[in-house]
Formats: sequence, structure tokens, C-alpha cells
Amino acid sequence: MGCTGSYPVEVRTHTALHVLKGAVVRVLGEAARWTASTYVKGGHGRLVVQFDRKPSPEELARIEELANKTVEWDLPVEVVTLPRREAEERYGDAIYDLFPVPEDVQELSIVLIRDPGGGIWNINACNKEHTASTGCIGRLSLGKPRFRRSKRLLELPFDIEPG
Ligand SMILES: [Zn+2]
Repeated sequence: MGCTGSYPVEVRTHTALHVLKGAVVRVLGEAARWTASTYVKGGHGRLVVQFDRKPSPEELARIEELANKTVEWDLPVEVVTLPRREAEERYGDAIYDLFPVPEDVQELSIVLIRDPGGGIWNINACNKEHTASTGCIGRLSLGKPRFRRSKRLLELPFDIEPG
């Protein structure tokens, strides 16, 4: 096992958002399941989720650890194109972020990372480019998070190691 392709750094950073989101929901629970926005520039990324408090240092360490476990496990990043209705019937609103996909979009590109037990690590309707497996991302380190109480938004900046 191991990553066999070579990818532009922003593709690795973008794919890391999916891995990190899975770790965030594992550690902070379903309350953190809505992504409000994402940002990628070079090897730097930021995931912003709706949440109601600042996570503890232990929780943040656990999120980082789990995200890096996912990279070590080198899980396949599956992409399937489905009619929107079918995707919604199969996966519910887990595929969506806080801001809705426009009504006129009838076909969704679903990005799915399964955990080693066959459960879902992360699923999201996303039409960007991804690495073939999580091992291609490289190690991820979390920066200092910011919690914006008035907006109930938790910002999680991160960097991936140079590839
Ligand atoms: Zn994506």
C-alpha cells in the first residue's frame, strides 16, 4: 500500500479537508457536522464548521491524531456521480454543507472515504479534484483554532507536509 500518484499540493490540501472533517465529527460529534466554509492555498488549508464551543487541547490533539491515522491507513478516496435524488435517498443530508447546492444541479459528484471497518469516514458532494487515496495527502498538522462565538463557527487551520 501507499500513494502511487503524484498530485499538485492544492489537490492534497483539498483532500485533507475531507479527512480532517471526518476526524472532527468523530471527536466533536454530530453537532460539528455542518461545514460552513473551506479554504485552500498551497499546503495551507482551513476548515470552518458550525459548533457551539472551543474544543479542548485534548480534543484538538485527538482530531489531529485521527486525521493522521487516516493518512497512514491510505484509504481509497471514492468518487461516484449520482442523480441528486438518488444520492439524497441513499445518504441523506450527510452529503451537504451548510450552504446548499443550487436547486438546478441534478447530478452530484459524491466523494466517499470509508473507514477501515467499512463505515463512512467522510462523505460529501464535491466536484473538486482529489487524490486517489488518503496516503497521498502527507502528514497534517493543525494550527491554532479560532472559535467565533457570535457566529458559532469553529475555524481549524492546518498545514500538510511538503510532498
Ligand atoms: Zn472535495
